[in-house]
Amino acid sequence: MGQVMERKYNGLTVPEGEKVQFANGKPLCPSKPIIPFIEGDGTGPDIWRASRRVIDAAVQHAYGNQRSIAWFEVFAGEKANNEFGEWLPEDSLEAIREYGVAIKGPLTTPVGGGIRSLNVTLRQVFDLYCCVRPVRYFQGVPSPVVAPEKLDVVIYRENTEDVYAGIEYPVDSPEAKKLIQLIEGFGKKVRPDSGIGIKPISRTGSQRLVRRAIEYAIQYGRSSVTLVHKGNIQKFTEGAFRDWGYQVAESEFKSAVISEDTLYKEHGGKLPAGQIVIKDRIADSMFQQVLTRPDEYSVIATTNLNGDYLSDACAAQVGGLGIAPGANIGDNCAIFEATHGTAPKYAGQDVINPGSVILSGAMMLEYLGWTEARDLIHKAFAKTIQKRLVTYDLERLMKGATKLKTSEFASAIIENMKSAD
Ligand code: NAP
Repeated sequence: MGQVMERKYNGLTVPEGEKVQFANGKPLCPSKPIIPFIEGDGTGPDIWRASRRVIDAAVQHAYGNQRSIAWFEVFAGEKANNEFGEWLPEDSLEAIREYGVAIKGPLTTPVGGGIRSLNVTLRQVFDLYCCVRPVRYFQGVPSPVVAPEKLDVVIYRENTEDVYAGIEYPVDSPEAKKLIQLIEGFGKKVRPDSGIGIKPISRTGSQRLVRRAIEYAIQYGRSSVTLVHKGNIQKFTEGAFRDWGYQVAESEFKSAVISEDTLYKEHGGKLPAGQIVIKDRIADSMFQQVLTRPDEYSVIATTNLNGDYLSDACAAQVGGLGIAPGANIGDNCAIFEATHGTAPKYAGQDVINPGSVILSGAMMLEYLGWTEARDLIHKAFAKTIQKRLVTYDLERLMKGATKLKTSEFASAIIENMKSAD
């Protein structure tokens, strides 16, 4: 009998299970997927321990012994640097590349020393071009607005282009001087003491992002996709994003989408069953709209910088900055992650709110097609907050709440799962 080779990354043996395969950018999930996890720095270990228990309990509760997750630890950040002398070992990248779907806690961004942000590196290495941030309200969470429950959006933010492409030169540098000269050759004026940044927005990058946003809206029965741009000023970047977005909708999803114009002219503003409206808004107006007409928006597709601002503004509106989940998704890889930082002053104290990683875990289950387990987490999470059982950060803002430790909050969610379905 041939010997089965053990697979190892960073010296750790991969547990028994199967890898998630991808077809046309979509995951095909086995009943026991191997999922690499990075527990994260600072409060990461506290958060990860709690989150893993909740995710496992939801899967167990939804599917009994039919499905489970084979977790596999990979290293990044301070823990990797301490154990291997590297912030992001090649083996960790290899493991994520091999198994495709991963989840991570927050990572310290090393300051100085020429080390790039680990989060940015992961996005670039795996071409994770969609930054996905669902924003919804959980009853009982303190919010700065009157009717936070009206906001329920999923933001698809382009993750690889725009002013984040890293093409930027300081004032007086030879590159800035050369670019200023070049631009002046086009008959435009630029002050000589300018720093210069370049904002590339491509047809390819825009269309693949909008395509994913529309597919998501179709798959989950969402009513609209809104292209958010600043095309009134930046015509050939932001304006082009809008035009390319409409082109994708028209050429690839003709039978599923209608324009806002058609919606009002032909259907009196009432959306025909099974259809999605595709519309666009100028970015500054969109910041008003999510406050004044939040229920008119469902899926939002936008460029990188707009998406960065809008995600945090929307999360703040539902009071959920500390519990906002997120994912970075490409065609052959997806990484689910906390959207907050490592909150190092609370490290090891078992007090931090694990909500962001727990809800990112729910997003991961949805991505894998395990929606029953996702629903269990959402319902149990909502129920726990409604009972005012929360960690310190929410307790200090809520009247009559009970302050729980990180681990106790996870246990309360698991307990509430039993009566959540
Ligand atoms: P931070 O870690 O997000 O923490 C700032 C403050 O936000 C905390 O002191 C705490 O406020 C609150 N907070 C954050 N997460 C919380 C949670 N889960 N539960 C309750 N409260 C929470 O931001 P930072 O101090 O600016 O950054 C620390 C490190 O994290 C840096 O190295 C940074 O580069 C890194 N970072 C990583 C990511 C990522 O991996 N995605 C994102 C951002 C920053 P109170 O003290 O008021 O309770």
